[in-house]
Amino acid sequence: MSADYDVIVIGAGPAGYVAAIRASQLGFKTACIEKWLDEKNKPVLGGTCLNVGCIPSKALLDSSHKFAEAQHGFETHGIGTGTVKIDVPKMIERKRKVVEQMAGGIGGLFKANNVTPISGTGKLLKDKKVEVTDHEGKSQTLSAEHVILAAGSVPIEIPPTPLEDGVIVDSTGALEFQVVPKRLGVIGAGVIGLELGSVWSRLGSEVVVLEATDKFLPMVDQQIAKEAQKILTKQGLDIRLGAKVTGSKVKKGKSPSVTVEYTDKEGEQKIVFDKLIVCVGRKPYTEDLLADDCGIEKDERGFIKVDDYCATSVAGVYAVGDVVRGPMLAHKGSEEGVMVAERIAGQKAAMNYDLIPSVIYTHPEIASVGKTEEQLKEAGVEYKVGTFPFLAVGRAVAANDADGMVKMLADAKTDRVLGCHIIGPSAADLAQTVTVAMEFSTSAEDIGMTVFSHPALSEAIHEAALAVNGHAIHMPNRKKR
Ligand code: FAD
Ligand code: AMP
Repeated sequence: MSADYDVIVIGAGPAGYVAAIRASQLGFKTACIEKWLDEKNKPVLGGTCLNVGCIPSKALLDSSHKFAEAQHGFETHGIGTGTVKIDVPKMIERKRKVVEQMAGGIGGLFKANNVTPISGTGKLLKDKKVEVTDHEGKSQTLSAEHVILAAGSVPIEIPPTPLEDGVIVDSTGALEFQVVPKRLGVIGAGVIGLELGSVWSRLGSEVVVLEATDKFLPMVDQQIAKEAQKILTKQGLDIRLGAKVTGSKVKKGKSPSVTVEYTDKEGEQKIVFDKLIVCVGRKPYTEDLLADDCGIEKDERGFIKVDDYCATSVAGVYAVGDVVRGPMLAHKGSEEGVMVAERIAGQKAAMNYDLIPSVIYTHPEIASVGKTEEQLKEAGVEYKVGTFPFLAVGRAVAANDADGMVKMLADAKTDRVLGCHIIGPSAADLAQTVTVAMEFSTSAEDIGMTVFSHPALSEAIHEAALAVNGHAIHMPNRKKR
């Protein structure tokens, strides 16, 4: 008897919905199961990314950046705006509409690509069967030739700060504040903590970020991280490193608050906030996903075990996105989804895990691809460095947006670009151009020989590449050739 579907995908986040679309494009009869419902019980596609992650956080970052610009950035251009006000409920409503538009688009893409959406909770049984339980509790069992698990991740909670309605929230709660908290605490100076801290700081909150480790952004090239710490501190974020949160006490009532206890090198500390955002990372989500006898193995941190091609321990079952190892990034999961669909179709698709760009959407943005200087040192690779500041880029100066720099690292012998790290305006898009070049094994000289538009922010990439070999034009070179 033939299976109900060629491919069943569980989870319609950026990993799952992309896998489903690509599988259908390749001619497979494909269904995608998603359990998310909105407050009106309408099925919602798009997962964390579109609903409570990438997209809504960027909507609020953009609104709050415009507010901060209107307050502090216009005067230098000769523009007077009087007193600038923020209507927080209106800002949150705009964010909701952006989310609705983007997440709604996935339904259209499914229709156009013949993917069957199924609303309910999917559970992998043995022999590639999937039980789907709908929202009334009714179950059906479907069979598939191939199953792709894309159940994503959820925020980590820590015992010292259990979530408390409206006072201690996770990243999802921090996207819904209806007023600007006067005193805002953020636990965790990671990507999400810095982005959400920036949103509310720009709108007027006094933000204190408590971070347990002594190093700021340990995964980022440390020259860029130091620059970031300086700029964000100047913007008003009070970033306290080596501050490990150990407890909290919530005061309820008309003006609720939370007293947070933490330890730093001076000993035990206490600080009071009106609201606290817990941003200490995310964990893979596999609740209700796997029947005991389905044969799928997990690692000690709860990630579904997969090989380099996202195949699990069960033949014909794959897992992609946040539910497997690797950086928890939407584009990483999407590319894995495409790879798996193409491998199911017999193609030799593979993913380059060494070239996954990553971005922190503060202002200026922090973006990187490839190896950091610290990683090259540790691996004993001989390298050359070229840096170029945005202060010497005409377009950045004209826009009054010239904080930051580009740093490029290349192999000392072959000149092959090994990493690019940027803090500056539009860093995400700039780092992407270098990612494309690195995918084709570019040398710094290749980028240096490429014609760049003038005036454009990307000239910083050109000049950093030239600087790698001591040929920068708009800056004195440390070594001349
Ligand atoms: P998810 O997006 O989590 O989707 C999984 C889906 O599976 C969910 O819809 C869930 O309901 C569904 N599901 C789970 N179990 C079942 C089941 N048993 N049956 C049916 N359905 C199920 N990443 C970036 O790359 N760039 C950013 O700027 C960025 N910003 C972020 C900002 C915030 C505030 C947060 C929280 C995250 C951000 N991320 C960002 C991370 C990004 O959102 C995730 O990496 C991405 O969503 C992971 O995609 P996924 O498809 O693996 O999982
Ligand atoms: P990320 O994993 O990038 O989202 O970052 C989460 C951050 O939270 C990490 O830098 C952790 O060091 C930090 N963190 C985790 N637990 C605590 C804690 N109890 N107190 C302060 N910071 C913490």
